[in-house]
Amino acid sequence: MEKQIMLYEGKGKKLFATSDENVVIAEFKDDLTAFNAEKKGTESGKGALNCRISTLLFTLLEKEGIKTHFVKQLNDNEMLCKKVSIIPIEVVTRNIATGSLTKRLGIKEGSILAYPLVEFYYKDDALGDPLINDEHCEILGLVKTRDELEILKTQARKINEILKAFFDKRELKLVDFKLEFGRDNEGNIILADEISPDSCRFWDKNTNQKLDKDRFRQDLGSVKVAYEEVLRRILM
Ligand code: UDP
Repeated sequence: MEKQIMLYEGKGKKLFATSDENVVIAEFKDDLTAFNAEKKGTESGKGALNCRISTLLFTLLEKEGIKTHFVKQLNDNEMLCKKVSIIPIEVVTRNIATGSLTKRLGIKEGSILAYPLVEFYYKDDALGDPLINDEHCEILGLVKTRDELEILKTQARKINEILKAFFDKRELKLVDFKLEFGRDNEGNIILADEISPDSCRFWDKNTNQKLDKDRFRQDLGSVKVAYEEVLRRILM
């Protein structure tokens, strides 16, 4: 499948059109950004690691009955995906309190939440991706009906259960993660974007060592080593 014009460039990926109007190529970049792109960096090989990890996790989810945009991995950095129109809501699911949740609500870092918490953030860089509720989503017209929000929540919870169990067997805690969904050409809401250490937090089950983008956010070093370790555990 040949790459045609670039349709979009985001912080972590570029999207290209192909000869098939229903299919796009996602190219995973080595760039790293944090704090709404105030902090920038690059890590050679990171794009390939995220492409591989996302491929493996989308494949796992598809096997478990979750509909995703994933078609196939093309090469180290590129993935063929169904073209979707992205719903501008970042769906964050949390099992353990950290990051913005602890800052916003004063919940102690590392606390296990009573049940998985699903949150919506408005995907808008200029506004700094603010936390929004169901009514904001509806009033802003981000979804067509309230039922669509229930689909997002139900899917996020299902995906959380699948991934949590998968990583638990590999001695990793799935702390929290961000998903994006899109509408395909038939109007179905399917999982899109990526699932990688850029969009998830993973802590080692025994040591709580951070194996995700927090190593970049917090200047902990060994970013690539951590992503490689996540891939190694997925392949266990
Ligand atoms: N996240 C993401 N993209 C964003 C914001 C958050 O992928 O633009 C992920 C992040 O990696 C973490 C989860 O969503 O796994 C929750 O992030 P949080 O709200 O704690 O924000 P942060 O601490 O990153 O500001």
